[in-house]
Amino acid sequence: MKVMKFGGTSVGKPERMEIIKGLISRDTEPKIVVLSALSGTTNSLSEISKQLSKGNRASAKQSIDALEQHYQNFILQLLHEETYYQKAKKVLEEHFEFLNIILKISFSEALNKDILAQGELLSTKLFSIYLSEQSIPHIWLSALDFMTIDQEGEPQIGSIKVKLAQLISQNKDAKLFVTQGYICRNSKGEVDNLKRGGSDYSASLIAGAVSATVCEIWTDIDGMHNNDPRIVDNTKPIRQLSFSEAAELAYFGAKILHPASIWPAQYFNFPVRLLNTMEPDAPGTLIESTSDSEGVKAIAAKDDITAIKIKSTRMLLAYGFLRKVFEVFEKYHTPIDMVTTSEVAVSLSIDNDSYLKEIIKELELYGNITIDTDQTIVCIVGNKISKTEKVLAKIFSSLSDIPVRMVSFGGSLHNISILVHKNDKERTLKLLNKGLFEQ
Ligand code: ADP
Ligand code: ASP
Ligand code: MG
Repeated sequence: MKVMKFGGTSVGKPERMEIIKGLISRDTEPKIVVLSALSGTTNSLSEISKQLSKGNRASAKQSIDALEQHYQNFILQLLHEETYYQKAKKVLEEHFEFLNIILKISFSEALNKDILAQGELLSTKLFSIYLSEQSIPHIWLSALDFMTIDQEGEPQIGSIKVKLAQLISQNKDAKLFVTQGYICRNSKGEVDNLKRGGSDYSASLIAGAVSATVCEIWTDIDGMHNNDPRIVDNTKPIRQLSFSEAAELAYFGAKILHPASIWPAQYFNFPVRLLNTMEPDAPGTLIESTSDSEGVKAIAAKDDITAIKIKSTRMLLAYGFLRKVFEVFEKYHTPIDMVTTSEVAVSLSIDNDSYLKEIIKELELYGNITIDTDQTIVCIVGNKISKTEKVLAKIFSSLSDIPVRMVSFGGSLHNISILVHKNDKERTLKLLNKGLFEQ
């Protein structure tokens, strides 16, 4: 069994659904196909939800109508036989009726999740009708019947495995299943999701649950590139990455992959392939347990970081000081990304500032606090890079004109991170690209 996940751009046009049909018919291995919402849909749904939360019903209605029109045009081009076209019309009626009903009820967080789930339900239902029109046998599965998260928002992999096995065994002869990425049920049984970009995570969890031979992530680019292609010119695809390298890149901002989607692959030990729907024969990126080479492989950047400095003349050298500082972050469920220490101060960076006020208040017991917001972590990833010759010299000579707020080196063999102001991010990525890859 293999898992093939297609992202928003890959399903976003009727002719791309035709390409997907071709890609899933290339071999006879049984498959679970995981789809995202059509590109732009989750953004629109999120906007509709926001408008409703502010009580702007008229603008929410306008956005719902525009979205419906988009889908009406989509099915006109996707389906050619009247019976299937009518089926698709019915699906649109059902989902847009729901969106129109919510205009009349009071807004809640649970409703927000219900709204966001419409995208993946629509894309998979329309794709399923298209496959039926093309006489391709398959089973449509609702992810809401097997994908669950616990109170902490963590996937319940044991239960996902059991439920999915049951659903598959109820359809013994089926060779093709189609299901939704992103959506799930939470511990209260309500509709929820795995956060933006979460379809990759769904695919990887499903691959782990069914012991898949491979999890293929089909997107709009030919694999993980060595720098952010939205910012830097002439970036290149990386052929191979280890799980650790890929996880670091995803966590530190390489948007091509949801940050959590690597741990199931590492835990269940299946390879992940990043492939391009628009260029299916390009080799893409293979992610597996070990790395095939040494040295710097890629650069990624993560925005919206806050740096916190705790300066103390008295406490720092005392035993237990760092423990007390870390406990404050633990108490507020706030992960720390970078840490650097000096004799009199410690600096840390966080990306979730929901509890910043509370954290500062408690840290003030231990010293003077300075906060720098709008920071970006730029992360240089590879295998044994901290042992790679001249790597630090190359990094620092590239960045001689950039004010660097923090540096983290030696924490692991495959990551060097630096913190810069967000206004310097673009220049930093370009200068590092030149210094590390173009010379
Ligand atoms: P999908 O909708 O298929 O999930 P995403 O938009 O989430 O696709 O991810 C693919 C996009 O990620 C690419 O179009 C590219 O602009 C962006 N991206 C950012 N960093 C990288 C990188 N290092 N390598 C490849 N793509 C990247
Ligand atoms: N549709 C969801 C999003 O746009 C999930 C995904 O595409 O991975 O965030
Ligand atoms: Mg994505």
